[in-house]
Amino acid sequence: MALTPRQNEELQRLIGNRLQALLSELRRDAARARGESFRELAGPAPDAGDASVAALIADLDQADLSRDLGELRGLEAARGRITEGSYGTCADCGEDIRFERLRAEPGALRCIRCQSLHEKTFAAAGRPKL
Ligand SMILES: [Zn+2]
Repeated sequence: MALTPRQNEELQRLIGNRLQALLSELRRDAARARGESFRELAGPAPDAGDASVAALIADLDQADLSRDLGELRGLEAARGRITEGSYGTCADCGEDIRFERLRAEPGALRCIRCQSLHEKTFAAAGRPKL
């Protein structure tokens, strides 16, 4: 592993802080979701327009939530890799992931090259062909 013990320590601290922040964000989201029912969002007598606005808000919340959950899982996986000793190694090519990249994105699974390749492949597969 190319990371020095000091860098490793810094990244662990970063991951810990980010996990804390995400967890409190998710708790807040969950509390808000409980407090605001679909009916309240749509108003007392929802017509089709109001209902679709409420559905849109619910969808946005869902997207936020799944992004946070995704990041949370990524960071927990990163913590697992630190324990295993495989942290900081690209999952695709096995090269070291640069410390600067890990500091910006502690849950990074791949080096920048493999990540952009992965995203290109993923984006191309997810987009309908015109
Ligand atoms: Zn790679």
